[in-house]
Amino acid sequence: MTLLHACPATERRHAMVEFQLRARGIEDPGVLAAMGSVERELFVPSALRARAYDDEPLPIGFGQTISQPYVVALMVEALELSGDHRVLEIGTGSGYAAAVKSMVAAEVWSVERNELLAARARSTLDRLRHDNVRIRSGDGACGWPGETQFDAISIAAATGSVPAALLEHLAPAGRMVLPLGDPHGDQKLVLVTREGTDYREEELTDVRFVPLVG
Ligand code: SAH
Repeated sequence: MTLLHACPATERRHAMVEFQLRARGIEDPGVLAAMGSVERELFVPSALRARAYDDEPLPIGFGQTISQPYVVALMVEALELSGDHRVLEIGTGSGYAAAVKSMVAAEVWSVERNELLAARARSTLDRLRHDNVRIRSGDGACGWPGETQFDAISIAAATGSVPAALLEHLAPAGRMVLPLGDPHGDQKLVLVTREGTDYREEELTDVRFVPLVG
């Protein structure tokens, strides 16, 4: 039997991987595979499903957004995740970025301050069987109380400085990626690498995220 037409969402997802990610320099095979398999259309409001693979952030309610696919891929690639890593994510939003990370890391621990978004992300991730993602509703700037260190941390909301609790959560040689700058204006996506007691910062690109609240 010959399948003449692939599912349109599948086609659009593969085009997104080729033209928005690979063409712009994303090359980690695990990240490309994860971005090529997570069904982004299930993480956006149903009225916006047709735009799920567009090259832009989209509104998810409560004044929040699901990040542009390229920015999600860039952040996950910068973390250099592997199958034994535990990653802490601040700002679950739709749960999309958590789903991508869950395919390249061992465990994702994600904090979302908006309880309704947290509950919605939980149900989407459960439906898609991303069983290695835990979600907590609360202020992510305080980290995950009771937990010690994570191999990687990503913050999906803009801040003028890195919250101290999150620096303490970063394991030696751990990597953190976050939008650093004016929370209501322009920011740089910054990679922070922990080297013993030192933290090295590297700017990756210009970004605009919603503010880290609290
Ligand atoms: N990467 C997400 C998008 C996150 S948008 C996705 O794939 O959909 C940023 C999220 O950070 C919003 O949902 C917002 O509610 C949340 N947020 C803002 N400040 C926060 C804080 N202090 N702690 C936890 N979450 C926060």
